Amino acid sequence: MLTEMLYFEPACRICGECEAIPLIRERVAEALRRHAPIVLYSPCHDCEWEASPAERRALAELVQAPRLEEGEQLFGMPFLPLSPADATGPGSATG
Ligand SMILES: [Zn+2]
Repeated sequence: MLTEMLYFEPACRICGECEAIPLIRERVAEALRRHAPIVLYSPCHDCEWEASPAERRALAELVQAPRLEEGEQLFGMPFLPLSPADATGPGSATG
């Protein structure tokens, strides 16, 4: 099975520069499903941080976006949640 990469442009926590970094699509999707932390980094300052809620939303859109180059098998992907009500978690922790 091929490891599919996606490219995300987080704003550097230090200088605010947006530079695309490669992420493993499968790992990002897994972390989003499990509400696990996603570590982002900025090549310009070699800085690492956990993705904010806004960044997680952007990543979720990237992960769920169909691959444009291959028009086949957009449906029937077994690891995608089928219920639209799955968007909200049971409780959002504050802090
Ligand atoms: Zn920077």
